[in-house]
Amino acid sequence: MIRVNENYLKIQASYLFTEIAHRVKAHQDAHPDAKIIRLGIGDVTEPLAPAVVAAMHKAVDDEAARETFHGYGPEQGYAFLRDAIAENDFQKREIDVASDEIFVSDGAKCDCGNIQELFGQDVKIAVPDPVYPVYVDTNVMAGRTGVNTDGRYSGLIYLDGNAANGFVPAPGNLEADVVYLCFPNNPTGATATKAQLQAWVDWARANKALILFDAAYEAFIRTPGIPHSIYECAGARECAIEFRSFSKTAGFTGVRCGYTVVPKGLVAWKADGSSAELRPFWTRRQTTKFNGCSYITQRGAEAVYSPEGAAQTKATIDFYLGNAKIVKDALLALGYDVTGGMDSPYLWVNVKGDSWEFFDRLLKEANVVTTPGAGFGRAGEGYIRISAFNSRENVEEAVGRIAKVLGG
Ligand code: PLP
Repeated sequence: MIRVNENYLKIQASYLFTEIAHRVKAHQDAHPDAKIIRLGIGDVTEPLAPAVVAAMHKAVDDEAARETFHGYGPEQGYAFLRDAIAENDFQKREIDVASDEIFVSDGAKCDCGNIQELFGQDVKIAVPDPVYPVYVDTNVMAGRTGVNTDGRYSGLIYLDGNAANGFVPAPGNLEADVVYLCFPNNPTGATATKAQLQAWVDWARANKALILFDAAYEAFIRTPGIPHSIYECAGARECAIEFRSFSKTAGFTGVRCGYTVVPKGLVAWKADGSSAELRPFWTRRQTTKFNGCSYITQRGAEAVYSPEGAAQTKATIDFYLGNAKIVKDALLALGYDVTGGMDSPYLWVNVKGDSWEFFDRLLKEANVVTTPGAGFGRAGEGYIRISAFNSRENVEEAVGRIAKVLGG
């Protein structure tokens, strides 16, 4: 008799986005002429950089001729991309990461989700709250938790992000083996200082624990001094894996490319107390279950590091950051506490009340869609997330409408 993995039954249905879609549709049906502006989504809106498009066109032509055709590529990624990543994302910043520590993939979501396969079944997992749900759900699927009550799974440790800690939880006396951290953060837009990240690295080393550092929004960092990588912290190579993505960096949400850094010498522990290097484990995992990101995509990703590609992708991110500033300035002027919106495409707004009520108010009175914070975890109640991914025209229009509703 075929049995299901009953851990899947524990997963809370994605109430958040279904419910948002339902409410938006009901509103649109009732007001067919309403021009609804969506500031809820985490997807990019601007097209690929011309340099990336040109590189991908050329790569298609490569595939069209016997002499330049590529079939299966290396599972860890082509050397041309791994070298470009190591040089530009790390070595130029004097961060010690080599190309053979980089594993190219089809996105950070898969890597964040798959990495837990490397760990023992009984490891204690800590996640921030509010949180990007992938970290939680993949551990639920793997059977590392009990059931969900009141929005939290038993067996998981939740690290509350709140106004008091600036949405950057500290390790304190945490007893965990693995912690997921994400900065700049989705959903709060918060960034961590080097001292805050160093405290996590020191904690991990002292506790033989591992940090899974999600830097999917690294390209939005503009403030000097904010770390771009966990490996800027002393000792991080001994206790951290880092995830990066071209999705928000270069508009690859539909193209699909990301990478994971697993440093040489990074170990986890066996039952007998001896250690095992994680890099060969991840190599084995990827070579067994993944057949590489497409040649065409990787040539596109490589072009992000060309002088034109870098300038063009930076300009797009500056544009989104400009959107974020417009929204942030307007909300601050209206008297709201706002986190993020600098060094991040997300704004996390304290709505001083119920997040769904506030969502409904903006939907019904301003025709603007946001995301209720409660959907990202219990600690997200009382907040909404606003995204800067939209056209300037829509953002200005949305801000004008929001100001009218909230200011009046
Ligand atoms: N990590 C975080 C924090 C994200 O917000 C996202 C996407 O929204 C991802 C990872 C996934 O990125 P990718 O498109 O590379 O799978």
